[in-house]
Amino acid sequence: MTSERQAVADGFDAWVTTLSQWVAIPSVSADPDRLPEVGASAEFLAQALRRTGFPQVEVLDSGPYQPAVYAHWPSGDANAVRVVVYGHHDVQPADGEDRWTHPPFEPMVIDEVLYGRGASDDKGNIGLHLLGLTAHLAATGRSAPAVDLTLLVEGEEESGSPHIADLLADLDGRLDADLIVVSDTGIFDAQTPSLCVGMRGMVSGELHVHGPEVDLHSGIFGGAVPNPITELARLLAGMHDEHGHITIPGFYQGVIEPTEADRTTTAALPFDETAWLAGPAHSRATWGEAGYSTLERIGIRPTAEINGIYGGYTGPGGKTIIPTDAYAKLSFRLVGRQDPAAIRAAITGYFADQVRAGLMAELTWEGDGVSPLFTDPQHPATAATQRALGGAFDTDTVLLTREGGSGPEADLVAAIGAPMVFLGVMTDDDQVHAPNERAPLALLRKGCEAVALLWRELAELGRTGLGASRGN
Ligand SMILES: [Zn+2]
Repeated sequence: MTSERQAVADGFDAWVTTLSQWVAIPSVSADPDRLPEVGASAEFLAQALRRTGFPQVEVLDSGPYQPAVYAHWPSGDANAVRVVVYGHHDVQPADGEDRWTHPPFEPMVIDEVLYGRGASDDKGNIGLHLLGLTAHLAATGRSAPAVDLTLLVEGEEESGSPHIADLLADLDGRLDADLIVVSDTGIFDAQTPSLCVGMRGMVSGELHVHGPEVDLHSGIFGGAVPNPITELARLLAGMHDEHGHITIPGFYQGVIEPTEADRTTTAALPFDETAWLAGPAHSRATWGEAGYSTLERIGIRPTAEINGIYGGYTGPGGKTIIPTDAYAKLSFRLVGRQDPAAIRAAITGYFADQVRAGLMAELTWEGDGVSPLFTDPQHPATAATQRALGGAFDTDTVLLTREGGSGPEADLVAAIGAPMVFLGVMTDDDQVHAPNERAPLALLRKGCEAVALLWRELAELGRTGLGASRGN
């Protein structure tokens, strides 16, 4: 057993207790009523980081952003790699309470699985850095980490990181790094450790179709004036053709077609589509863009999704009206070099052009959106992270994957100007963003170990081995 594994085993039970206490804080950034809890969650993490030994820990709560946590622990070694770890402590709303078999904010361990909102995304993943660091220190006998360690844990990632630019600006000069480690993604499955090398970008918003100025009697006026809900349905259905291609002019601008090597890498993953449908996808069929496999549709193709739809009368019984308004919540995942601003303009233009005369279609965007991100699979940090994950999972094979999700990763790379790797242990079975979010303790344990091993790997590489320029 490596000394890192032993140290993780020694501290694991106490760590699970700490993580559970953190998960119990309902830090839902989307809900304005939960703002105090987002603050409490930041404070909780700050205390845990201080107990871990970080000499500098700060809760940033004076910006337009929800409370974030910054922590720094200098290595003291001359050639130490400077690392910024990024993740978030806010969580998705836990609506659909009736579908939670365990209350979302009363975390509990059942059959070696921790249940609770945030158990995986992202308190579980950020928590890895607490025990991972303790294990690194114990295993190396050091009193400070072998890398120069900075943590940035934001409080509104699940709301689309609308103020990440302000947060990064407030930390200007304190985020100098040779490497960014994002802990907000996962592995292919519990048996298949893998390294994420790309995430999709996203723009999202609400489409509003406005019709008559008052609700109209559907007998007296029906059939003679346009119905905004019918029109909304037509516009939304028109976003895809029968091959699953998105029809919005200009939408594919910047999409990069996969190379043969990309397709081979993806095809090498042990993907069991039938099990995926029955398991995490909870669906009876696949559907998507013709010419691409399911994993390619998730990893390297853009999407146009309708997340919600409302309008008119939805109460008990019937109400025979032509309603005044119809609304849909939309989100679009972006890949390659698709530019969020250009894509927003293309979509806005599409609905304005397509809407039938006499109706109004207006799109209100949720923030600026985020750009897609892909990392360099050839970078020495990629191999170092593969070795760390391989060490934790006792394997030499750590495959490369692309995640369908989105975060502010491209903004971080642009602001910090360093390469990025992903280290997290979520899986598709974790029900993230869904009821009954969960994290298997065995994976969390391996994640803590992978963190400890990564700091060892990076220390062995040093800044020179990482290709970081001196004095940078
Ligand atoms: Zn997350």
